[in-house]
Amino acid sequence: MSGKQKRADEVFCRSCGEPIKKRAEICPNCGVRNNKAGSSGQRRTSRTPSTPHNPAQYETTVSDTWWYGVAGGTALWALAFIFAGVVGDSLGPLAGFVLLGAWIGLPLAAYFDIQYVRANAEWNPTTVLWMILLAIWLVNILAGVVYLYRRHEVLGVP
Ligand SMILES: [Zn+2]
Repeated sequence: MSGKQKRADEVFCRSCGEPIKKRAEICPNCGVRNNKAGSSGQRRTSRTPSTPHNPAQYETTVSDTWWYGVAGGTALWALAFIFAGVVGDSLGPLAGFVLLGAWIGLPLAAYFDIQYVRANAEWNPTTVLWMILLAIWLVNILAGVVYLYRRHEVLGVP
């Protein structure tokens, strides 16, 4: 704020320091939201940069049953992991087909379930990250368990 003059109805932008109207919520210069009530620029406290997730911002018509898909897919992979250890890698074409379904179905179920979680819980999972984790062999078993555990923590339902 070096040498910038402001008028009586103006304050300095909390971000760029340009004088802006006191009533302005968003600085026309830099686009950063300013505190409507705060007239001094001193109010900029050290809040964490990531704004808290607000479930009310999200609307979804997604059913709450997609987690069954996540649980089922994870269980399938865990079974495959156990069987692969017992039978070697000769799982057979049927198991291969089932696992192909799980490989697509698990991330897909997560894709829908995350929309539900986001709109109903204090957790905003990164869709792409989880879909990738749930598509990688062995990682997906762990990721599925972690996801369901976290989901249970924030939603408390299943
Ligand atoms: Zn500004």
